[in-house]
Amino acid sequence: MNACIIAVGSEMLTPFRVDTNSLFVTEHLNTIGVDVRMKAVVGDDVAELTALVRGALEWADVIVMTGGLGPTEDDITRDAVARVLGVSMSENEAVVSRIRERFAKRGITMPEINRRQGMVPDGATLVENPNGTAPGLWIEHGRTAMVLLPGPPREMKPMFEAIVRDRLASRSGGEGLFRRVIKITGRTESDVDATVQPIYGPWQSQDVPISTTILAVLGQIELHLTARAADRVAAGRALDAAVGELQGALGEAIYSVDGLGLEAVVGQALRDRGLTIATAESCTGGLLSSRLTDIPGSSAYMQQGVVCYSNESKTSWLGIPAALIEEYGAVSEPVAKAMAAGIRAKTSADVGVGITGIAGPGGGTPEKPVGTVAIAVSAAGDERVRTFQFFGGRELVKFQSSQAALNMLRLLLGYPRS
Ligand code: ATP
Repeated sequence: MNACIIAVGSEMLTPFRVDTNSLFVTEHLNTIGVDVRMKAVVGDDVAELTALVRGALEWADVIVMTGGLGPTEDDITRDAVARVLGVSMSENEAVVSRIRERFAKRGITMPEINRRQGMVPDGATLVENPNGTAPGLWIEHGRTAMVLLPGPPREMKPMFEAIVRDRLASRSGGEGLFRRVIKITGRTESDVDATVQPIYGPWQSQDVPISTTILAVLGQIELHLTARAADRVAAGRALDAAVGELQGALGEAIYSVDGLGLEAVVGQALRDRGLTIATAESCTGGLLSSRLTDIPGSSAYMQQGVVCYSNESKTSWLGIPAALIEEYGAVSEPVAKAMAAGIRAKTSADVGVGITGIAGPGGGTPEKPVGTVAIAVSAAGDERVRTFQFFGGRELVKFQSSQAALNMLRLLLGYPRS
C-alpha cells in the first residue's frame, strides 16, 4: 500500500515551525508495511489543499492529513475534503455536546465558533480524540482510506496509533518494515559505500528483502537497513545475517548495530570494565565531558573534566612543562599526550584524554592550519595519540574532535568486542 501525508498549516511554511507529525505517521505506517510515497506541507488555503487531495486520490491507498481541524475560518481541512469528494457536511450534535462539556468542565461556555468542529462530511466515521476537542475523521473513498487528524502532536499521536491498530493494520496485507541502524565512524562515506555496495546489492532479491540507505551525518556514517517481512522474527533473522556480513567487511569501524550513540558505547565499555575516566580539553571547551555526561548513570565512570584553554592553565593545572609547549607548540602530539597523562595523574582516573587543536577561524598557520587537532588517550600500559585535520567551521571542528576522541576511547577499550 502507498501513502501520502499532508501537513496542513501556513505556520509550517515559515522558518519557525516544522512538520514533525509526518515523521511519526511515516514510522507507524512503515511498521505495517505501508510505503510513504509523498509528503506535502500546504498552507491554510482551500483551493491548494483541494488540488493536492484530488491528485493524491488518484494513486494513494492511504491519505493522512494532520492540522486544520480547529474552530476558526482558516481551519479548512474538512471543507477541502468535502469539496473534493462532492459531499455535504452536517453538524453532529453528539460531537458538539462533547465539546460543550469539555469547555464546561473548565468553567467556560463554549464559543459558538467551536460548532465548526462538529461539522462532519457525509460518509465519515468519527475518530475519538482523548486529548482535545476536535475528533478525527475516517473516510473511505474507492480504494483510498482518508484519515483527518488534529495538528497538535499530543492529540494526533494516540489517535493515529489507534487508527493503525484498529483499521489500517488489517488492510495492509500483514507485512511490516523492520529497521536496524548501523553506525560507523572514522571512514569516509564513499569508502564505506564502495565496501558495502557489493554486499547489500543482493539483499534486495532475497526471501526477506532488505533495502539499505547510507546517511552521512556529522562525524559518522549510518547504514539504515530496512527488512520487509511477515513478522518480527523473520525480519530479525534476516537483519542479523546482514549485520554479520557488514561487520565482516567493515570490522571495528562499526561502533554500534542497534542505533546507540558513540558516547553511550564508550560509557558501556567503561562500565563493563569497571574503569573511570577524566578529560582535559582545550579546543573542545568541555564538549567531550558534556557528551560523556549526556548518558544517564555516567557518574559510575566519569570522574572529572577540565578545560585548560590557555598555555598557562595547561602548565599550572596539568603540570605540563612550559618548555614542552614552547618546543612543540600547544597543538601538538607531545602536549596532547601530556594532557592525557596529566589529568590521569591528577585525578587517579583509569583513563585520561587530552584534546588540543585549532578550532578557527583564526589561529591557523601553514604548518598547523585551522582544524588541526591532536588527541591522546591514556590508560595503564596503553597510550595512543593522533593528529587529525578536520574541515568546516568552529562548531564542526569541535564536534568532530569530540567524536574522534570518543572513537579513540572506544578502540582503546576494545569495544564492541568482536
Ligand atoms: P486545534 O483544534 O488545536 O486548532 P488543528 O487541527 O486546527 O487543531 P492546527 O491549528 O493546524 O491544528 O495546529 C495546532 C498546532 O499543532 C500548531 O500550532 C503546531 O504547534 C502543531 N502542529 C500542527 N501541525 C503540525 C505538524 N504537522 N507537525 C508538528 N506540529 C504540528
